[in-house]
Amino acid sequence: MNHYKLLTPGPLTTTSSVKEEMLLDRCTWENDYKSLTQKIRAKILELAGGDPKEYTTVLMQGSGTFTVEAVMNSAISNQDKALIITNGAYGERIVKIAKYIGIAFREFRVANNEYPNEEEIRNILKEDSDITHIVMVHCETTTGILNPIEMVSKLSKEFEKTYIVDAMSSFGGMEINVPELGIDYLISSANKCIQGVPGFGFVIARIDKLIACEGNSRSLSFDLYDQWKEMKKDGKWRFTSPTHVVAAFAKALDELDEEGGIPARFSRYQNNNRILRERLKEIGFHAYITDEKQSPIITTFLFPNESFSFEDFYDYVKERGFVLYPGKLTHINTFRIGNIGEIYEEDIQTLCNVIENYMGVNVK
Ligand SMILES: *Cc1c(COP(=O)(O)O)cnc(C)c1O
Repeated sequence: MNHYKLLTPGPLTTTSSVKEEMLLDRCTWENDYKSLTQKIRAKILELAGGDPKEYTTVLMQGSGTFTVEAVMNSAISNQDKALIITNGAYGERIVKIAKYIGIAFREFRVANNEYPNEEEIRNILKEDSDITHIVMVHCETTTGILNPIEMVSKLSKEFEKTYIVDAMSSFGGMEINVPELGIDYLISSANKCIQGVPGFGFVIARIDKLIACEGNSRSLSFDLYDQWKEMKKDGKWRFTSPTHVVAAFAKALDELDEEGGIPARFSRYQNNNRILRERLKEIGFHAYITDEKQSPIITTFLFPNESFSFEDFYDYVKERGFVLYPGKLTHINTFRIGNIGEIYEEDIQTLCNVIENYMGVNVK
C-alpha cells in the first residue's frame, strides 16, 4: 500500500503508536476495557472544562454524523423546535437529519463565506417563541470557516435556549470551554483533532438536560439517554463497541497530553495553517475564507486559473506523498487542504515545495 499523509479533515494521519494499540483484541465486558471507556469519558470532560457534577460524556458507535443524529433525536422532543444556523454542508446535514426525524425546525442560512448576523438571529428568537433549541456547526469543514459560537452562546443564554454545537472538526484542536460557553451538547468524534481512528463519536452533555431526554428518542440505536444510562454504570457500552478504536483513542488522548495538551496542539495546527496559506498565496492560490474567519483546521482554495485540473494536480501531489481533499462548494471551483493530524511544519513545507514545482514556479 502506498504510504502517504492525509491532508483531509478526518480520518487523518495518526501516529504508529496509536495504530499499534489496535493489535490487541479486547473483551467488552472485561474490567480493563470498561475502565478504558471510563478514563476516556473523564478525560474528554476535563478537556472541555466540564465539572463531572454538571456534565458528562457519552460515547456513541458510528461516524460523527451518527452522534449528531443521536443528539438531535434525543435532545429535541416532538414539542420542541430547533433553530438550525447553517453556512455549509455540515449544517445542511443537520437540517436533513431534522427532516428525516420529523423535528420541527427553522433554518437560518447564510452564505458559505459569511458569519450569521447577531441581530438577525436575535430577531428570529424574539419573533418565534416556539424555538427551544439552537443548533450550529463550529468549524464548518465545508469551507474551513470558524463560526462565532461565542456570539450565539450569548443569545442562547439571553433567550434561555438549549444550545447544541457540532464541534466535530475543532474539539481537541482548539480550546472550547463548554460550561463557559453555556453549551448543552457538544459533539465531536474520534478521528478528528484528538487524532484517533474512525469508529465512534462523543457528546459532552449537561446532565440535567440529558436526564430530561428520557423517552424522547424515536429510535433505539440513536437513544443518547439510554446509551448514557448504560455507560455510566461501569463503562460498558450498550451493544458492541469498537474495541480497537477505543483503545487507539485512549492512546491518542495520552499523546495529546504528551504534546502539551490542547494549547500546544492548537499552536501546531495554527502554525501549519499559517504557513500553508502564506506559501500557497505566493504560488498563486487564494483562500476562499478571509484570514479573520479562517479556522486553523482546513482551508479551501480557489482554482488558480481556468486550465487548472484538480485531478491532475491531485495525482501529482499524491505520487509525492500527500492526499488532498476535493472542494465541496457547488457554485465555485475549489479544493481543500486539511492541516490537522500528525502533520508538522516540515510536512507543510514539503507539500508547498511539491505544489510550487507543479505550478512551475521556481521561487526557491
Ligand atoms: C467530520 C464532520 C462531521 C461528521 O462526519 P462523518 O463523516 O459522519 O464522520 C460532522 N460535522 C463536521 C463539521 C465535520 O467536520
